[in-house]
Amino acid sequence: MELELKPLNLEGVSESRPIVMSGPCSAETEEQVMKTALELAKNGVRIFRAGVWKPRTKPGCFEGNGEKALPWLEEVKKETGMLTTTEVATSAHVEAALRHGVDILWVGARTTANPFAVQDIADALKGLDVPVLVKNPVNPDLELWIGALERINNAGIKRIGVIHRGFSTYEKKLYRNMPMWHIPIELSRRIPQLPIFCDPSHMGGRRDLIAPICQEAMDLGFDGLMIESHCAPDAAWSDAKQQITPDVLGFILSHLIIRSTTTTSDNLITLRHHIDQIDDDLIDLLTKRMHIGREIALYKKEHNMTVVQTHRYNEIIDKRGAQGILHGLSGDFVKKVFEAIHEESVRQQLETINKP
Ligand code: PEP
Ligand code: MN
Repeated sequence: MELELKPLNLEGVSESRPIVMSGPCSAETEEQVMKTALELAKNGVRIFRAGVWKPRTKPGCFEGNGEKALPWLEEVKKETGMLTTTEVATSAHVEAALRHGVDILWVGARTTANPFAVQDIADALKGLDVPVLVKNPVNPDLELWIGALERINNAGIKRIGVIHRGFSTYEKKLYRNMPMWHIPIELSRRIPQLPIFCDPSHMGGRRDLIAPICQEAMDLGFDGLMIESHCAPDAAWSDAKQQITPDVLGFILSHLIIRSTTTTSDNLITLRHHIDQIDDDLIDLLTKRMHIGREIALYKKEHNMTVVQTHRYNEIIDKRGAQGILHGLSGDFVKKVFEAIHEESVRQQLETINKP
């Protein structure tokens, strides 16, 4: 299904990259919210985020102040002129947030993974015009992410964006949530007009990873960033390890290198042209290789031989692996390429010998 989208058009917010949203993981107290917001405004941030309903892994943790915190966001808007955004997970959240003038809604990662919850939110959004940002689902499933976008879009919401916050894995690695950049890149390729934000806070889970992840997102052409900040990060009631002060945020933002997303340089165009030609040749060569494979299959059929001859397969992998290393390619990469070629060749050979 094709999405029908309009630009986010965030009132009073410049569209130059990166569009920044920042604020605490949770709205804890009126004082914490106001203090953080004022410091952020001083650092040039124009969109204030704060979690009001917090999806926590285990019961017994601070689960947000709920509706009680929404007037604090109204106050932030009044005092600083910033737009406000909060996470909604149910239709009741949507209604309460909008009643209190929240400007942008976001759907959290755990919610995106649940089509019933997303549909409930979509139903509450029918007939409204409010920007909605959809975080990736916790599991690396691009179709599930797109499905959530479709549900929101089907409700008539056209100002939609996405937030990439990484994917959860069983083993804990360097990142709290694995970036798997190829997934948002594929999403952008399929829906190019979709604004895409990166959330380095939940991806990294650590303060020292915020800056490098922001830079990586900018290098990949992301439109914006959602970063958790707190006036006293160590004392935060949730996600303390990943929150930074508004001043540190300002420092990180001022050091980001922002490269152009349009390619105007002649040199780059020439190089891209070169790559395109090589890709053409690669497809051509692969097609020829498969053709020969099918001829071999007919020979094998006539002589009653099996399609896969293990020693021959091992010989190809070893020989090309060694050759690749000599040319500066990683052995692993060459192995993967030849395994894939071999798999396709076997598939085509089986098809050939089974043809009547
Ligand atoms: C959040 O942004 O505070 C949050 C809970 O994020 P996520 O849905 O990405 O875990
Ligand atoms: Mn958080």
